Amino acid sequence: MRKKIFSSGPSQLPHWVLTHMSDAILNYKNTGISIAEITHRSEYFLDILHELKELIKKLLHIPESHTVLIVQGGGRLQFAQLAANYLTPSQTAAYLITGYWSQKAYEYACHYGNAVAIKSQERDFYSLPILHQDDIPAHARYVFMTSNNTIYGTQYHTLPSCNIPLVVDMSSDMFTIQRDFNNIDLAFACAQKNLGIAGCSLVIIKKDFLQKANDNVVPILSYQNIEKHQSLYATLPVVNVYSALLCMQWLLSQGGVEEMDRLNEYKANLLYEEIERNTKFFCRVSPAYRSRVNVCFSAIDKVTEEAFITFCKRNNIVGIEGHIKSGGLRASLYNATSQKDVAYLIEIMQSFEKEYAI
Ligand SMILES: *Cc1c(COP(=O)(O)O)cnc(C)c1O
Repeated sequence: MRKKIFSSGPSQLPHWVLTHMSDAILNYKNTGISIAEITHRSEYFLDILHELKELIKKLLHIPESHTVLIVQGGGRLQFAQLAANYLTPSQTAAYLITGYWSQKAYEYACHYGNAVAIKSQERDFYSLPILHQDDIPAHARYVFMTSNNTIYGTQYHTLPSCNIPLVVDMSSDMFTIQRDFNNIDLAFACAQKNLGIAGCSLVIIKKDFLQKANDNVVPILSYQNIEKHQSLYATLPVVNVYSALLCMQWLLSQGGVEEMDRLNEYKANLLYEEIERNTKFFCRVSPAYRSRVNVCFSAIDKVTEEAFITFCKRNNIVGIEGHIKSGGLRASLYNATSQKDVAYLIEIMQSFEKEYAI
């Protein structure tokens, strides 16, 4: 029996994607070879990569002013790659610290240049700071932020605008919410949340900003070099890129990002309402900033939390534990998580409340 998967990444994949992956692993489109055996220089793969980029542009309404790159590695590699392209010891960038991932990105940037942390007055990560132009050093090359904080369950439902190039880690909410890319100079997302299986990342860059990258960047990290080779400078993980194409085809068939945006808000609201209603749980995140894709919540005490995790396991639910840094509980409701999955989780929370009534 298939489990109900609420993991934060690697996360649930649509059933349609899994069946097509499994066919392609044995025999890619009747070519007589597996997708895992196809070379990245073949016509087959060039077609996959081309279609993937075109679909991404269409689904996200990427303007002509921007270009799309598919790169090796995950989110952390982007923290380093970004800084390698735009920071030297004499250059400055600002980092808006809103949780674990932006803190990591800031630490990576410190290896390359002068990274300045912008911190909130709050002592915890359950609400979000507003970005003020005055907090950003005037000579900053860019300001970095995370649109959705996967671990603390906070999300900027609208992104700030400022007159410094904006760089956004969208690893956990890309394709789940509509964003206006005109105001974004660089956005990236690792694949394992909404774009397939772990191993590659998507980078969207404004062409003007790409031109401003530093010279002398090592070729494997140079965005300009990767763009020049149309993302085929080094061997891309072919199977992973194919899984991304399938996810995008699936997304289009479901009504695209507009429809997901609507559905994700609906799914998350259902779950937050249950958390508020249920006497065994509560949510620390201030309502204005609650994430629509990572619903982080807590049980009333440690014993109840452990009992609930066991109860979930007995009822076929996977991935409900919070991140080791934040503790608590977390249900990730990415695009592949259906309304039915959310209804099932709510039903389990209600049975738990009844069974553990003291
Ligand atoms: C998952 C995630 C990452 C990290 O990705 P890795 O591929 O594990 O390095 C970075 N940023 C955010 C916001 C994430 O959710």
